[in-house]
Amino acid sequence: MSSPVSIVIDSDSGFCFGVTAAIDKAESELSRHGKLYCLGDIVHNSDEVERLCSKGLITITHDDMPRLHDAVVLLRAHGEPPSTYIAAEKSNIRIIDATCPVVLRLQRSIKQTYLRENPPQIVIYGQSGHAEVNGLVGQTDGTAIVVENSSQLDAIDYTRPVAIYSQTTKPLDGYRAICDEIKRRMLPGVEFTTNDTICRQVANRGERIKNFAASHTLILFVSGKKSSNGRVLFNLCRQANPRTHLVSNATEICPDWLTDITSVGICGATSTPRWLMEQVRDKVESLITISDKQ
Ligand code: SF4
Repeated sequence: MSSPVSIVIDSDSGFCFGVTAAIDKAESELSRHGKLYCLGDIVHNSDEVERLCSKGLITITHDDMPRLHDAVVLLRAHGEPPSTYIAAEKSNIRIIDATCPVVLRLQRSIKQTYLRENPPQIVIYGQSGHAEVNGLVGQTDGTAIVVENSSQLDAIDYTRPVAIYSQTTKPLDGYRAICDEIKRRMLPGVEFTTNDTICRQVANRGERIKNFAASHTLILFVSGKKSSNGRVLFNLCRQANPRTHLVSNATEICPDWLTDITSVGICGATSTPRWLMEQVRDKVESLITISDKQ
């Protein structure tokens, strides 16, 4: 019989407080009324969305809003642009606002800068089209410049002041590299204001998850394919441990991965529910038990 394999779930992985609060709000409304609309996926994890769907959560898009008179709509942790609140008011929709307080603070800060008498160019380091970024760009009437890498920096006019903000889930080193490059290009004497608005719930996870990944022979990273935070953390795990596999859920585990291992680390994104990581652990346990018996 082979020596026992340890299977550990990373205690730092899983929902951040913003996502936890949004799901709590949805569950509380669903327990009272059995039906709730949510604008976009409440979390970038299809298994968790399906679980809430079975309780009465209905995911809608912006295009559905005008048709939903007198309904109740939850706004998820990513936040929304002002146009969404206006559309809701027009259709007499009651909003349950689950925008994360960290995102709300960032939206307000961008809006204040934009409303200044001579506003600088507002640059957002983030993923173009991401829901949170759309909410941030909306604070500037669509004028903010979104950049994700240095090849997009030509859109900035370096003879005029610039203020940069970051999408909350972007990596710190990427943000610093973009800031350094903008600083290098700015005309001498022109103001450049940096605002490190990366959420520490996410930023702190990078270092910890790398250590976690390095301390196991095999890593199963559990995340929905739509999660941008998931992609970042998965890549960090893979750098620290090449035997890292991305799975959406327990059905995607390949038994061949479990050969020659002494420990399995299970971790995930800020959008990964704990119950999903537990199902992955249970599946690994059963696969190891089966192979031990063979
Ligand atoms: S990652 Fe941070 S900012 Fe984003 S929802 Fe979670 S707690 Fe809020």
